[in-house]
Amino acid sequence: MTENQSRRSFLQNLGVGLGTTAAAFTVPSLVSIPESKSKYEGKKLGIALVGLGSYAKNQLAVGLEQTPNCYLAGIVTGTPSKAEEWMKKYNIPKKNVYNYQTFDQIADNKDIDIVYVVLPNSMHHEYVIRAAKAGKHVMCEKPMANTVKECQEMIKACKDAGVQLGVGYRMHFEPFTKEVIRMSREKVFGNVKFINSNFGFTIGDPTQWRLKKPMAGGGPLMDVGIYCVQGSRYITGKEPLAVTAQFGPITDPTRFKDVEESLSWQFDFPDAVTVNGFTSYKTNIEQLYITYEKGFVQLSPAYSYGPIKGRTSQGELNLPIVHHQANMLEAIAREFLETKMFPSHISGEEGLKDMKYLTAIYEAARTGKKIKLA
Ligand code: NAD
Repeated sequence: MTENQSRRSFLQNLGVGLGTTAAAFTVPSLVSIPESKSKYEGKKLGIALVGLGSYAKNQLAVGLEQTPNCYLAGIVTGTPSKAEEWMKKYNIPKKNVYNYQTFDQIADNKDIDIVYVVLPNSMHHEYVIRAAKAGKHVMCEKPMANTVKECQEMIKACKDAGVQLGVGYRMHFEPFTKEVIRMSREKVFGNVKFINSNFGFTIGDPTQWRLKKPMAGGGPLMDVGIYCVQGSRYITGKEPLAVTAQFGPITDPTRFKDVEESLSWQFDFPDAVTVNGFTSYKTNIEQLYITYEKGFVQLSPAYSYGPIKGRTSQGELNLPIVHHQANMLEAIAREFLETKMFPSHISGEEGLKDMKYLTAIYEAARTGKKIKLA
């Protein structure tokens, strides 16, 4: 089974639609985006996707077909047959198609406002910096890079070039997630006391880049555990003070020669809030559970493409189901058209903070020590 098949079948088992190629999946409508004419009409932002793999093809390109204020204007790919296929499918002119050698010429292309880097993690650093040097605003997939130093260099390159940098943290725009953030901040059930956050799936193809440390930076923590780290930060609105962590056992030495198979961690947050995190490439699991002084909230699924489901100690959460990527891209486009900036909660600085916490989790697991973060 390939990696994509494996991710897809796991999420489908959870009742989660993953892409247009799956027969049973219908793209959720953009219910959170009003259908009335946009006030920005005529100023659609042109986005170029760099790397036409699974996420670009099945999620971002599909989302960009639904966004009133941005569209798929260009592509960057090393595979000529993909270029042909995408040009036809999305009506992309040849002048907006680049490969990895010609990429820097994108500087001269007025159709492209934002370059969106959707490559394996180790390549984010190089392509974000090249995009910034070409004078383009940049979106970068999570994790922002493989190291803290790389994230710092990416932020500096974008600052020096005077361009915006954002990380593709789609949950920040998702209605259930936004509602739980609101309930936590407004203390609907009192103060947060404890968070249990986990995300894992059964990985397929043992040869894929996600299992190679130089390309992936690490294992499931870098890939999906990052959602749990993010989750604990957006729920509390605070930064962790310290972390302990433990690697799980390796049960599959063929796949896990290079990266961890699973990992558990415990964050101490301010106000005596404890966060239990777990991530795995061998366990299908996905939950954000928050205990408050006077109740609880649970999202499960909490982080995959949806439909996200939620309940609280007072009953089911009934909220719009959206296409995550369309919803995120449209929100970013509107914010940019309005303010010339990307939303601050998905900034490069936020990506850098997460990278510091991921690095600390690995250090805690390696050393067996509690790592202080503040
Ligand atoms: P993928 O393997 O399906 O696609 C990677 C693309 O990079 C392919 O088109 C491949 O041809 C290209 N590529 C160029 N040089 C390569 C090289 N040397 N080795 C391997 N591939 C190379 O991966 P994906 O699932 O699309 O993930 C891409 C990025 O998107 C990752 O950073 C991942 O973490 C992120 N992602 C984010 C989400 C999300 O929900 N936000 C979901 C999936 C993936």
